[in-house]
Amino acid sequence: MTTPAAHTISVTPSTAGGATHLECTRTGDHLESEILQGVSPAGAPLFARYDLPAIRERFGPGDLADRRPDLWRYAELLPVRDPGAIVSLGEGWTPLLDAPRLAARLGVRACLVKDEGQNPTASFKARGMALAVSRAKELGATALALPTAGNAGGAASAYGAAAGLPVHVFAPRDTPAPIIAEIRALGGHLTLLDGLISDCGRAVREGAARHGWWDLSTLKEPYRVEGKKTMGYELFEQLGGRLPDAIVYPTGGGTGLIGMWKAFEEMEALGWIGSERPKMISVQAAGCAPIVRAFEAGVEDAGLWEGAATYASGLRVPGAIGDFLILRAVRASGGAAIAVTDRDMEDWVGIVGTTTGIFAAPEGGAVAAAVPPLLERGVLSPDDEVVLFNTGSGLKYVGMTPLELD
Ligand SMILES: *Cc1c(COP(=O)(O)O)cnc(C)c1O
Repeated sequence: MTTPAAHTISVTPSTAGGATHLECTRTGDHLESEILQGVSPAGAPLFARYDLPAIRERFGPGDLADRRPDLWRYAELLPVRDPGAIVSLGEGWTPLLDAPRLAARLGVRACLVKDEGQNPTASFKARGMALAVSRAKELGATALALPTAGNAGGAASAYGAAAGLPVHVFAPRDTPAPIIAEIRALGGHLTLLDGLISDCGRAVREGAARHGWWDLSTLKEPYRVEGKKTMGYELFEQLGGRLPDAIVYPTGGGTGLIGMWKAFEEMEALGWIGSERPKMISVQAAGCAPIVRAFEAGVEDAGLWEGAATYASGLRVPGAIGDFLILRAVRASGGAAIAVTDRDMEDWVGIVGTTTGIFAAPEGGAVAAAVPPLLERGVLSPDDEVVLFNTGSGLKYVGMTPLELD
């Protein structure tokens, strides 16, 4: 019997990628990229670096037209060397939807929604996990583990299943029921703990030390951020070769914001854009806003938020190892960090839904809720073209109710 060709991997050796090395985001030190590496000796996230001058010579936006409609269209700028190691469920290349009625309601010239709820496992965690699991497999990991506030556990379980690797997931007991069902259906070995994602992180570190699991925690391995950076490349391509005035992004661990900022830096080195950047807006929940607190205090590291509470589980991240990278990007872009209440998120999930047809996650409601106060503060202008990230589908939060916050 012949296998249908629909899902064959069309990346040929001529479009395979591969980093030259890894770089410590605190010290700039270089590390070997072709073995499994977690954080740098300084304890900071590692970035994959590429031979961009050489890539610039042989690859440009004009080469993308006929590429596969997922994030592997940017193979040259991704770390996977062996196309046979790619673990894919069709992640990325989500639609950038023009939302004129939402724009009118918000009071901005143009509003576009990047609908990440259309990814495999219905959240943008699929992007990061596609890269992290592909690389873990390519570099010889035999079991994977992670702490999660929810969606990362679903995505890791999916890509682990596709790769044939076991995944150990540690999540808070009050993780949304649809996500728990998803993790179980996809074969993730799930442990529910009383506590937050930070408590789950401790359990993963112990298991990793004892059983040799490869730790997929946010920014504690170098490749989830590579998957998420593709959102930056997609914005450029989907806008016809330019970037918007502002990007409003719901921030937990910050991988997506950090990743897009890295993509813009790469795109400048590739000669695709100049030094201009969109204003990067980090949106958090009023009940868990360490980045907002640090932004307002003018400090470089955020520290831990005590008593984190919000029904937007993706935003319930009390401490982020990449805090300084988020804050740097937000400040360098002329953006801001802002908190919104659960009530406002829920209200705006409704407004986004009725004005666009997108059933947004609370995190998607949060970014819309942030726009009116940002206009009031003068961070955004009515003239701006604003991209809102709806990072997941509302279907994954059915049954969750907003927390009362004043
Ligand atoms: C994880 C998650 C976030 C936060 O993403 P980061 O890039 O880690 O800041 C936002 N929204 C949803 C739906 C998520 O699952």
